[in-house]
Amino acid sequence: MTFILNEDSIDYNLKTMVNIFKVMTISIIIIVGIILIKFKPAYAVTLGETQIGYVGNKTEFEQEVDNKILKSEEENVAFVALDNISYKFQYVDRSLVSEEEVIEKVKENSKNIYSVYEVSSNDEQDVVYVNSLDEAKELVDNLKNSYNEIEPDLKITTLYLEEPVSDESISEAKLKISQSLDAKLEEKRQRDKRTVNGIYLASLPLSGGTITSRYGSRESIRNHAHGGLDLATSYGTPIKAVADGTVKVAGVSGGYGNLVVLSHGNGVETYYGHCSSINVKVGTTVKAGDVIAKVGSTGNSTGNHLHFEIRINGASVNPQKYIY
Ligand SMILES: [Zn+2]
Repeated sequence: MTFILNEDSIDYNLKTMVNIFKVMTISIIIIVGIILIKFKPAYAVTLGETQIGYVGNKTEFEQEVDNKILKSEEENVAFVALDNISYKFQYVDRSLVSEEEVIEKVKENSKNIYSVYEVSSNDEQDVVYVNSLDEAKELVDNLKNSYNEIEPDLKITTLYLEEPVSDESISEAKLKISQSLDAKLEEKRQRDKRTVNGIYLASLPLSGGTITSRYGSRESIRNHAHGGLDLATSYGTPIKAVADGTVKVAGVSGGYGNLVVLSHGNGVETYYGHCSSINVKVGTTVKAGDVIAKVGSTGNSTGNHLHFEIRINGASVNPQKYIY
């Protein structure tokens, strides 16, 4: 087989190839053109687990997030909580790329976290939450001044919350902490009043009873000033130890009739006279409130009553300085 190539056919083939090349080039330019018009290089932005859109310039976008979202101008904002942002480079439809939309979505998903200061007293049952450290310090100073008698142990703790504290709840909590400290102050004052030379009189000697003769009074029945307090009540009423102690005397003693004397330490003694019966023995240890005897009218007495005395180092003092 012979193959003949003449000049005409060469010319024809070359022309055809050039034409095909031209068409291909134009097609590629058109395709690339379409791609460039419709698509653009961008970053798919994912917040946490959710893809929220596309941005063209990652660095600019990150600066926007920093300036518009993470740096909150609002008062008392400690920081802005935001899920992790990740990026993926890709070509996307131009119309999908919108930095503003993505910023909006990031904003919607960000949370202001506020610093809140907890002021708590002793047992941490009483707390006030305030919005600034200055306010917390001021509150601590005020409470320490108002209640220095009970030396409240006040502490400031910083907390991070999604909401600032409302003025209403602050005044409510302040009122509550004041009431609680008022009660503690009152309790301390009561306790101080009922403390004789360091011994706390936790109990009254009688439940009920009427004062019929005060300390220091002079009456025809005796030839000296009254050394105690007389409390009239019905026969057999229980008489209670006013404080912890030990029994020093338990028996008949002259004008006192049946007498119990308790020793409480620090030179403090209490006397319970005219008893109808005695429940304790010398040396018995008693607790405040324990029944030690019963009311009667033994000894130098004209009716059922308790003669109650407090002595410090042997000298009687006015019981009404401490109780009743
Ligand atoms: Zn008396």
